[in-house]
Amino acid sequence: MDFRNNIPLSKYTTFKIGGDAKYFFIANNSDELIKAISDAQKKKINYIVLGGGSNVLVSDAGFDGLVIINKSDAIKIEKNIVKAGSGVLLFNVVNKSIENNLSGLEWAAGIPGTIGGAVRGNAGAYRGQMSDSIIKVEVLRDGKIISLDKKDCGYGYRQSIFQNNKDLILSVELQLQKGDRVESEKKIKEILADRKNKQPLEFPSAGSVFKNVMIDDTIDLSRFINLPKEYLEYKKIPAAWLIDSLDLRGKTIGGAQISTKHANFIINTGKANANDVIQLISLVKMKVRNKYEIELHEEVEYVGF
Ligand SMILES: Cc1cc2nc3c(=O)[nH]c(=O)nc-3n(C[C@H](O)[C@H](O)[C@H](O)COP(=O)(O)OP(=O)(O)OC[C@H]3O[C@@H](n4cnc5c(N)ncnc54)[C@H](O)[C@@H]3O)c2cc1C
Repeated sequence: MDFRNNIPLSKYTTFKIGGDAKYFFIANNSDELIKAISDAQKKKINYIVLGGGSNVLVSDAGFDGLVIINKSDAIKIEKNIVKAGSGVLLFNVVNKSIENNLSGLEWAAGIPGTIGGAVRGNAGAYRGQMSDSIIKVEVLRDGKIISLDKKDCGYGYRQSIFQNNKDLILSVELQLQKGDRVESEKKIKEILADRKNKQPLEFPSAGSVFKNVMIDDTIDLSRFINLPKEYLEYKKIPAAWLIDSLDLRGKTIGGAQISTKHANFIINTGKANANDVIQLISLVKMKVRNKYEIELHEEVEYVGF
């Protein structure tokens, strides 16, 4: 298999940041994906699979190994079951589902990237999350293709076992409900308008940088002034609220900025590098720790650090 050399990863991430991949390959189907991984293993080359590159920060030094871009895009719908290859764009899965009068994925409208990336990170928004619809996930594990039931995927808030193992997600089976296309389209239109209103979509970013904070016994609520009641009700404090409370909107380091529109977004104002973003992330974590004794955790994943 021929891998290309020294390809800038900034072209393959929504942050538009990142140095070169030493080796690079675009897989157009799952056979190519499996073959590329098997070749990398034989040659003892470190590898990583990226979908849309919409949840990663790639280091300025790039990735000293093989980056495989997953474009395996088979999708099949039977009754209310959708089976999608991991490289299908989430956007296409949403559209295909509603074309078939299936409801349940409207919340995902506007999330960039592939369904493989969404299944790994248990992507979610507007009270929905990937794991709500998943029945089975097919993965490549130790060279073998195996099918996992949802219960074996360790799903939690933006969490799955796939973040802690080397499984390659090949495809996913989703169960949706019979719905009404017009209703779904209306819901999607509202969500897209809300995103446009609240998120700095005009700048490159990787979406929300930090996970929201679950309220449990470890959180000292006496440290919070004016915490909105609904956060207590939902037992979750948005990271954006914490960052906002520290007056960090607009804080800029190099070409990276904490968005003035949404405090949990770091945007690339044009010439940001990964180091600028890292410095902003560290600053936010330090300030949140100092004021609230809370450790924020990144939703964005690091590549090549
Ligand atoms: C403007 C914007 C808005 C966003 N809004 C949301 C939101 O509302 N909710 C939300 O949850 N996220 C959101 N995101 C983040 C991101 O789009 C999602 O996390 C998305 O699901 C990532 O998919 P991806 O294909 O781009 O993954 P990538 O960024 O390519 O990869 C992310 C991680 O998954 C791994 N990976 C990718 N594919 C596979 C595979 N097939 N098998 C195993 N591992 C794999 C990669 O190695 C990497 O570690 C947003 C991002 C942007 C830029």
